[in-house]
This record gives sequence, structure tokens and C-alpha cells, in this order.
Amino acid sequence: MIRMSADAIKLLKPKVFDKSKWMQLPRDVVIGLDVIGQIPSVCEDLKLGKSALLISGKSTMRLAGDTIREILDENYTIKPFIAEEISMPVIKKAQKAAAGMDFLIGVGGGRVIDTAKIVSYNLDIPFISVPTAASHDGIASSRASVPTVEGHASLDAQPPIAIVADTGIIASAPHRFLASGCADIISNYTAILDWELAHRVKGEPISEYAIALSKMTAEILVKNSHIIKPHQEPSARFVTNALVSSGVAMSIAGSSRPASGGEHKFSHALDKLAPGKALHGESCGIGTIISMYLHGGDWKGIRASLKSIGAPVTPAEVGIDDAIAVEALLMAKTIRPERFTIFDTGLTRESAENLIQMLYRE
Ligand SMILES: [Zn+2]
Repeated sequence: MIRMSADAIKLLKPKVFDKSKWMQLPRDVVIGLDVIGQIPSVCEDLKLGKSALLISGKSTMRLAGDTIREILDENYTIKPFIAEEISMPVIKKAQKAAAGMDFLIGVGGGRVIDTAKIVSYNLDIPFISVPTAASHDGIASSRASVPTVEGHASLDAQPPIAIVADTGIIASAPHRFLASGCADIISNYTAILDWELAHRVKGEPISEYAIALSKMTAEILVKNSHIIKPHQEPSARFVTNALVSSGVAMSIAGSSRPASGGEHKFSHALDKLAPGKALHGESCGIGTIISMYLHGGDWKGIRASLKSIGAPVTPAEVGIDDAIAVEALLMAKTIRPERFTIFDTGLTRESAENLIQMLYRE
């Protein structure tokens, strides 16, 4: 037997763990029609305990939350919590309500899932992600987006321990959400180009595995964009699989880099300048067209895919003035300035104006 020296053992116990260096992945991923009924089996499989706080929105509680409560009622203590918005006061209230509970279930759209994710991280208890729409890749990732006074902040959290995505429920959500989820996946293309650019310019480390998975996910989606139709269960399943795959790429990278570049910074800037207009994925999709043009890639192909899915390709389509989109382009580089992207390479007001006008060209 080889004995380790005391010095070697010391090396194994670093005083501070940097969890961002860990690959944290969901353990049970269940995607399909009517899989909501499998939640008790998932809880049992993961031995999560006997009590949970179920975080949901008002309408998503009616849509799915109440059913989950009913099916878990026999063997679990489930306490409902309505999170109408994502904000620090709501997160604090949810944390108080979850005190002493074994785990969390987040049932709803992006805001609900992100709230559950942050509460789970802060209390260090696991959470199950039950998305009711496939609108962005946060359903499976370790990142959470929270509005702050300065705009949106992207926080380190932890990925869900399980994802139960009932594609029947997801297919019944407005098509706008699904199209937005597709656009969030398509943005992987430029997110990767920005990451590779940062690697070449700044020496930022990259993960080829994360890049390969993220790129493949976007490619499969674009190749099949013609089959993505409103309110079809197979379409919902297809997009949900892609969102999970994108989330896994982020877990492998230990950051959102494989799925978030300049187009995401543009999206965050738009959230600040025109709050409540575009869905996350919608503005990312528009940003992807611009970023792809700057990278010298097939921006027209990206635009055609977004169009065929039913995602917007101009600011006007989401009710945003071109002048505001120009400001957002110029503001993009000031958001998370440490994340180098193509928008850091000398955009002027004139070039930003031309880029927005280009979106409308045939
Ligand atoms: Zn995104």
C-alpha cells in the first residue's frame, strides 16, 4: 500500500474551495409527456427528505404547482410559496419560509426557477427544477439572473439536483416563450466566438468540451428549425432537450461563457433601457445577428433561422425604438466589463447606428 505523506494530505485539503472549478451537474433529468407524475419517484430516488417548499407563480401554481402538491401530499409535507416577481425581498421571504425544509421545488418560468436556485444556494439545500416554459437555458444551469438597482446581475448559484420537464405543459405555453428559448440556444454560436476571441486576445482559458457541446446544441437546433412549431409536444421536447444540453455545457465550463457573450450583454443593456419589452432569449437573438455580422460569420443564416422559428429579428418587432437599441449596443461593453467580447473592439455611435439599420435590410 502506498502511504501519502503528511504534506501530500495537506495538499488535498485546500482551505478554500472554489466551487466554480467544480463540474456540478443535475442528477435526474426527466423530460417528456406527463412526466410530472414521476416527481415522487424522483424525490425518492434522490432521498431528498420529507419536506419541501414549493415555489411557484400565481398562474403556474394553478397550472402545475397544485397538481405536484396533490401527488406529493401523501408522503411529503409541501408548503406552497408564491413568488410573483424576482427581487431581493421575495428571495428573503422565500428563504424564511424554507427554513427547516429539506428541499425546494421551483415550478414556473425563468423568474421562479431563478428564485428557487438562489434560495437553494443560500440555504444549501437541493432544488428540483420544474419548468412550465422552455424560454431560456437557466432551467438547467448554475447561473441565476437577478434584477438589481444597476440592472441585471448574473449570480453564481448551483444547478438543480433534478429537472422534471413535462413537455405537455411546456407545449401549452405561448409560442413566444419557446421561440425565445430557441433564440437563447442560437446565441451559443456567438457566445463561443466571443470566448475564443477572449482566449486569443486576453489569454482567457477555454474548455473545448464545453465549446463542442454548446456549439453542437445550437447546430442541431438550427438544422431542425423547420420542425419547431407552436403548441406541438415534439417541438417542446426538442427545445427542452437543447436547453438542458446548453445548461450542461455551462456546468462543464463552470461559467456561462459557452452560452453567453456580447449578445447577452446587449440583452442585459436592453433590459435596463427598455424593461419588460423583450423576453431574455428574444433580445439575445437580435444581439446574435449583430455579433455574428461583426465576427464575419453567416449572420443572414442566423436571421433566417430565428425568423422561421418565429423569434423577432429587429427591435421594432419587440416594441423597442431603434435609438434605444443603439444605446444598448454602446452600453453592452460596460456590463460585466471583465467579459471580453466583440463589442469591446471599438464600436462608435455611427457604427452602432449602422448595425441596427442593417437588421432591417433584406
Ligand atoms: Zn441566455
